Amino acid sequence: MSPDSAPVIQARNLSFSYGSGGGPRVTVLSDVSFDIRRGDFVAIQGPSGSGKSTLFYLLGALLAPDSGRVWLGGTDVFALSADERAWLRNEKIGFVFQQFHLLARASVLDNILLPASYPAEREATDQAEMETRARELAARLGLESHLHHLPNQLSGGQQQRVAIARALLKDVDLILADEPTGNLDSKNAEQTLQLLEELNRQGKTIVLITHDS
Ligand code: ADP
Ligand code: MG
Repeated sequence: MSPDSAPVIQARNLSFSYGSGGGPRVTVLSDVSFDIRRGDFVAIQGPSGSGKSTLFYLLGALLAPDSGRVWLGGTDVFALSADERAWLRNEKIGFVFQQFHLLARASVLDNILLPASYPAEREATDQAEMETRARELAARLGLESHLHHLPNQLSGGQQQRVAIARALLKDVDLILADEPTGNLDSKNAEQTLQLLEELNRQGKTIVLITHDS
């Protein structure tokens, strides 16, 4: 299958359990298979403890399954070397976490620029171009007057918008969001969902993990 016609994600027979050294193993996923196609907006829903974050880590190639495979855009990600996998993750996936995971001592601008700060990136890309893009994203997300603030000077909704801008810095096709509204009040949660819908209308594939129907 050519990379363009391949599903964005193919999960095949994924199984995963936690625990070794003594304690009982906790089986979290057994034999999970599905496809996510280009342009989809998919919600993965389940109660707390049902294995959603574990699946998020597997789909994002952050955690290897015990068995099964993940293809991203036709590439078998766990057949890659660790370096190739890191490159693919940085280049192809925008991650949005419930806890935002912003760097506390870095400005909004520097947080958005984080994906451009890996050593290999620094050589390969024009930092000025990246900074222009970071500023454009910040403006689009209503953060232009907060570029030099620190995360703790922002509301939860603003922090989540910084995290989304960071996820968009590389022109990724796929956004994986693990309970991105979990720490937001209803107004900010609604705005975050609207933003994800808008990104989906622009052609990005969105996988939204949530416990909330
Ligand atoms: P969810 O995101 O749906 O709340 P998780 O994927 O975080 O679920 O967790 C699924 C199950 O795996 C839970 O029972 C949780 O306690 C367990 N678990 C999660 N992370 C670990 C870990 N690092 N070590 C052991 N058990 C874990
Ligand atoms: Mg979770």
